[in-house]
Amino acid sequence: MTTPRPDRPAARRILSAELFAVGSELTAGETRDTNGGELGRSLSIAGVTVRRIAALPDDLGQVTAAFSAALEAVDLVVATGGLGPTPDDLTREAIAAAVGEEPAIDPGLEAWLRDLFARRGVALPAANLKQAWTIPSSTPIPNANGTAPGWWVDRPDGRIAVLLPGPPREMRAMWTGWALPRLRERGLGDGRLVRTLRTYGIGESVVAERLGEAMLRASNPVVATYARADWLDVRISATDVIDGSGRVVEPAADLLARTENTIRASLEGYVWADDETSWADLVAAAARRSGTRLATVEAGTRGALAELLAEVPALDRAVVLGPAVEPDPASWPVEAQAAEVAREAGVEIGLALVARTDSATQTVLRAAVAAPDGGWCQVLDLRLFQHGAHGRLRAAVAAAAFIVQVLDERGSGAPGRLAR
Ligand code: AMP
Ligand code: MG
Repeated sequence: MTTPRPDRPAARRILSAELFAVGSELTAGETRDTNGGELGRSLSIAGVTVRRIAALPDDLGQVTAAFSAALEAVDLVVATGGLGPTPDDLTREAIAAAVGEEPAIDPGLEAWLRDLFARRGVALPAANLKQAWTIPSSTPIPNANGTAPGWWVDRPDGRIAVLLPGPPREMRAMWTGWALPRLRERGLGDGRLVRTLRTYGIGESVVAERLGEAMLRASNPVVATYARADWLDVRISATDVIDGSGRVVEPAADLLARTENTIRASLEGYVWADDETSWADLVAAAARRSGTRLATVEAGTRGALAELLAEVPALDRAVVLGPAVEPDPASWPVEAQAAEVAREAGVEIGLALVARTDSATQTVLRAAVAAPDGGWCQVLDLRLFQHGAHGRLRAAVAAAAFIVQVLDERGSGAPGRLAR
């Protein structure tokens, strides 16, 4: 891959992006665009404002128009799909038209492609030759998992277009392994910091009330709440404040720290974690701190707890009963079940969870944490206003929060964090 780099493009911080998923199978609803969400998340974490995620059909005019408009509107355009060998794969033609360049075969890419096919014992099909195309302002992005190289297109004004193949496995490897590190070198999210505070045990409207309208409407930092299945996230995104001469008068780090402190104080007792921390991470850390090994048994949850805690190294055994076994939370002996599973696994603490979710409104759950000999035991009773699969996941999250709290209390003698 020997295409010479164009003249060094203008310096430009990359703070905004539009994402396109190209393919008529997406607009027809045959395939879901999962690439857009993945890339959007990756960029948002990096401090980039994603202005739009759109799916486009395999239509040269539409894709060209979308690229042209986006390259006037945002710092970065990322497209996935349409880099295959067939005539309906038109993303290369579209970007070439949008930037006014003529595609031509890149000898380096052609040699790589021929070699790839030769090693599979077949001649290069004529159709695949367009996967060796490039334009002067593009740098090929190597694809270790397929035959379609990506395109990194530099615009004279410092804007960038990144084109990746549609298959998630290919695009993911090329994005994280190649494009993202280079975008970081080019100022991806520069001058902007993002932090997520993960809360649990408090409702979104109460959070909004405590943070206040002024904070939630401010433009710097931007503070927003996201209700997820496992957490209620509060995301803070701060940007350097720059004066007329380009000097930073207030760094993003200061703005972020100040707002984060305010939020932590208003939501005291409810912020359990930050950024990408999962419930499995929290349980694992609490178990490590208190030097405890765990075993779980659950009924009525279809294994939601075992799935949530699958990556916890301290979890020796996770027993899932059912789906035929759906005991009544009011009468299932969670205390005895928790002690028994700990005994059977030979660990210090057992957790038993039973949930019953009705199809329309809510989930009732009961959980117990116990020592193997039943010498001590704590019980949690909850009624959740979620049902079905969502209710089962919420029941598992409640059990995970319960065990974190119990482990922390045992480890430190400190009061629990669940203000109930
Ligand atoms: P393409 O690069 O357009 O030839 O896409 C090849 C395959 O990748 C498609 O048939 C889909 O199965 C998958 N694919 C394409 N775009 C997406 C997308 N945005 N999200 C998830 N899968 C995709
Ligand atoms: Mg396609």
